[in-house]
Amino acid sequence: MKAGARGFDSKLVHSGAQDDAHGSVVTPIYQTSTFAFESAAHGAECFAGKTDGYIYTRLGNPTIRALEDCVAALEEGCGAVATSSGMGAVTTAYLALLKGGDHVVSTASVYGPSRILMEGHLAGFGVASTYADTSDLDAMRHALRPETRMVYVETPSNPLMQITDLFAAAELAHANGALLVVDSTFASPYLQRPLALGADVVLHSVTKFINGHADVVGGILAARDASLLQKLRKMMTLTGCNMDPHQAFLVHRGLKTLSLRMERAQATAGRVAHWLEARPEVDWVRYIGLPSHPQHELAARQMSGPGAMISFELKGGLAAGESLMNRVKLATLAVSLGGVETLIEHPASMTHSGVAPKERAQAGISDGLVRLSVGIEDADDLVEDLRQALEPA
Ligand SMILES: *Cc1c(COP(=O)(O)O)cnc(C)c1O
Repeated sequence: MKAGARGFDSKLVHSGAQDDAHGSVVTPIYQTSTFAFESAAHGAECFAGKTDGYIYTRLGNPTIRALEDCVAALEEGCGAVATSSGMGAVTTAYLALLKGGDHVVSTASVYGPSRILMEGHLAGFGVASTYADTSDLDAMRHALRPETRMVYVETPSNPLMQITDLFAAAELAHANGALLVVDSTFASPYLQRPLALGADVVLHSVTKFINGHADVVGGILAARDASLLQKLRKMMTLTGCNMDPHQAFLVHRGLKTLSLRMERAQATAGRVAHWLEARPEVDWVRYIGLPSHPQHELAARQMSGPGAMISFELKGGLAAGESLMNRVKLATLAVSLGGVETLIEHPASMTHSGVAPKERAQAGISDGLVRLSVGIEDADDLVEDLRQALEPA
């Protein structure tokens, strides 16, 4: 790592650069499964962890290390572990840090598969879990049990952008002998650094803002201290959910423009959110940057910006949602988020169409709810696209 790379943007561009024999400015793709030892003694030292030498790509690889070191620097952690997907990171955190008899308190609106893995599979191994609105500190406190060993928080949450107070959550968790693990995917390290607020582990689906170009699926975890990092790395290598060198190269390439992409997307999102709030077809808008967001002040304290995710409710319900999806021309009809292209999604007719209407309502997914991941197109074009899609022919 180059000396003097201190500010976030300098770290973004320079952290993690790995030396190679030719002075490559960019860490090359070390597309190799295994690494030759210089001698039997060198091999023994590598296995004993006495040198930094590489052994086998599932255990570590210079291209993957470059990305891990960069994210660790951005998250102000002691190191990071890259995984094959965001769910690989979630699985690694669960399996590395929990055992039978433990209890977990989790954000109720947590990413669906994170909850299914916990309730449907870890429960069978004796890990109990309770789901609470963690944006409500009392609700989180009441969900704790003596055997709670992990508080697992997703903030901002999906789709309603609820914010959990990370500083308070860390205090609650630690006073109870539990770790605080944060899925920070919706914020990216550009907007929020959970480790600096007291979290023990922060994880991301790098598929979203970190890679930012909708062309890679991947995940990463960063840890507060070396003993946590070691547990995470060990579990990642045992479960085999390692990132691939080519994947790591692409993610690291995308990551370098995180600040530029976020600033632009966020500026456009602010404009689109204000515009939507004034539309007669729209019942309400949930955007962290609007004063109407119920936790606008907490967000301003905990995050360095409101980000690029907007949810809004159409007065016309299901039919209005379907019509909007069919009429947009610039925004792309797709799930996922955090890329340079604007994506639009209608949970009631798309991701959550298989969920019973009553359960959908309980999860805060109303029939007219639309989620927008704002990209970096011209703001005027996006507003015009939404206008022509919302206005009756
Ligand atoms: C997408 C997502 C995940 C899962 O990530 P994958 O890369 O799809 O495995 C986890 N958490 C959040 C908040 C996500 O948005």
